[in-house]
Amino acid sequence: MTLKNFRKIQTNRTKFKQRRSGLLSPLVGNNGSYDENSNVRTNEKTEKSKDEEISIYQTLVNNEFLRNVLTGSSLQKLIDCMHIKHMKQGEILLEQGKINSYLYVTKSGTYEISENGKQTGKVHGVRTFGEVAVLHSAKAAQTVKALTEGKVWVLDCLYYKNLTVNSHIENRDKIIEFLKDVPTLGRASDARLYRLCDILEEKFYPSNSLLVKEGDIVDCFLIVTSGSATISTRDRIQKVEKLSRGCFFGDYIFLKETISLYTIVAEAPGVECLLLSRRHFLDHFNDLEDFLHGKLHSAGFQNEKYNEMKLKDLKKLKTLGVGGFGRVDLVQNRRHKDDIFALKLMKKYEINGQPQIDQVFNEKDLQMACDSDFVVRLYRTFRDTKFLYFLLEPCLGGDLWNLLRRQRRKCFDTDAAKFYAGCIIEALDYLHSKDIIYRDLKPENVMVSETGYLKLTDFGFAKKIPINETSFSFVGTAEYVSPELIKNLPHDRGVDYWALGVFIFELLVGKSPFRNDMHNDLKTYKAILKGIDFVTFPFIVSPRARNLIKKLCRPLSIDRIGCQKNGIKDIKIHPWFSKLDWEKLRNLEIEPPIRISLNSKTDTRYFETFQDDKEDVQDDFSTWDKHF
Ligand code: ATP
Ligand code: MG
Repeated sequence: MTLKNFRKIQTNRTKFKQRRSGLLSPLVGNNGSYDENSNVRTNEKTEKSKDEEISIYQTLVNNEFLRNVLTGSSLQKLIDCMHIKHMKQGEILLEQGKINSYLYVTKSGTYEISENGKQTGKVHGVRTFGEVAVLHSAKAAQTVKALTEGKVWVLDCLYYKNLTVNSHIENRDKIIEFLKDVPTLGRASDARLYRLCDILEEKFYPSNSLLVKEGDIVDCFLIVTSGSATISTRDRIQKVEKLSRGCFFGDYIFLKETISLYTIVAEAPGVECLLLSRRHFLDHFNDLEDFLHGKLHSAGFQNEKYNEMKLKDLKKLKTLGVGGFGRVDLVQNRRHKDDIFALKLMKKYEINGQPQIDQVFNEKDLQMACDSDFVVRLYRTFRDTKFLYFLLEPCLGGDLWNLLRRQRRKCFDTDAAKFYAGCIIEALDYLHSKDIIYRDLKPENVMVSETGYLKLTDFGFAKKIPINETSFSFVGTAEYVSPELIKNLPHDRGVDYWALGVFIFELLVGKSPFRNDMHNDLKTYKAILKGIDFVTFPFIVSPRARNLIKKLCRPLSIDRIGCQKNGIKDIKIHPWFSKLDWEKLRNLEIEPPIRISLNSKTDTRYFETFQDDKEDVQDDFSTWDKHF
């Protein structure tokens, strides 16, 4: 997971020698362009005539990329947020290499486009620039300079995204207010109510449909958020009452299973509710008492052995990796010298904003809940005023990104690629069986254990999404994101299968299929939208491998191999894997293709050397992490 230091990573990047950073939609500020004050960022709007609105609209929909990314209602909101900028002759609109978070639509004037100091085009009249900013801030690929005076429509994409997210946060605050009025739940602390908010589901009941039937078992708690419903009983059919906005029903399900004494029917034009099923509640908390007073965010695999350990017992031996929020160190328990761990540190002050907070809790909860040979174990976490700490199983074979680059031909042979893909398929199989979608598959997030087997780590973008449900946020790494993410459409576990296709290609070829040599994200997204059929497969990719990759990278998630009724089994029985014994792989009985040879439990030969972090990390005394 990479959030804040995107700018640093981008500017330090020597062509493809730099690990690729993950992206999260703009507000969440992955890209270094996150503005500390962006929550209060204001935007001057410019009144527009109908003709102007139509002209901007047409320009945006004529743009192949934006047409795919923006939907009708978001387009209107976006146009509303645009303001006019007066350009002077010679003024630079976009500068190649600089992080840009604005979308521009030229209205008048003439502009020169140049790349690496050479003029590549001239534009007169209406055109868009900086399109990628709608998804996330990114380095400008060209320089655009005004040759004459002119006018440009400008959209501050961070402001625009904030608008959308802020309305989500306001919504959440309202829900918390509702929850506080519920006798059983309302006694809980805000932190617990926030947690509950995350697992509430929205549901719309059309007019006259049944919310609850008298005599049936009540298995859902619901809050009405708009519209109203009538409550009646068979005996007292005359005595009808109403449920309206803010009213709730069925909170006793958290205490015990009950039979409904009422029938509740939606009134016209329908009722919108937030629902929480008893089963879903029990997936997250043992019972009501646990929800009200138990330890929050501990619903996972906790290794009791390390419960007594203190942060000061850990001695740093070496830095293994530097990532988005901090670094990963190899550490040793001073009291039991054989206990070696990888300790991931995240700078607290850089975690600002609810989405990032949700993300770190997600990372903790989901990785800790995993107990698989193909996932890096998270034993426990610590916190102090500067950092959050993740105590991880150390994987001394380094990461797969490094191993790939250490190969003579910078790629793996077919047998190795099959073995490595097999390990990742086992990891995804395990995660999906727990309804966890990983969402950031790439060699940088895959560790090699001392046994030579692979393990997934970095759960920063993982999310629990039950089968048949979808999520909306834009997350992932540019070269690995699937078309539905670019198009801002809901996504499901199909995103992991798409990424698996890209991953297998990269293992075999040494570069990912949609990458371009300019490292231009817009070009990458355009290539992804164009599809895998336009990608040239080098001859080293066998017809079977090509067939599998193409089946994984189908544009629609439902068409991808792995997404049909047999699920991931279809991938395992694909002819490319015909020689792989899955059972032996699961039992770690296959000889790995590349042996990892180490001198000791602290041998770091498979890692690069990192400078010590000289930064005197500032304290952050905020308490949002008190349950971490
Ligand atoms: P990035 O922003 O680069 O994705 P991140 O902040 O999300 O990084 P991770 O991806 O979890 O952090 O870890 C960063 C790097 O640290 C990895 O690429 C790897 O080299 C090293 N690393 C992480 N976990 C371990 C581990 N358990 N054992 C050994 N090294 C590790
Ligand atoms: Mg990572």
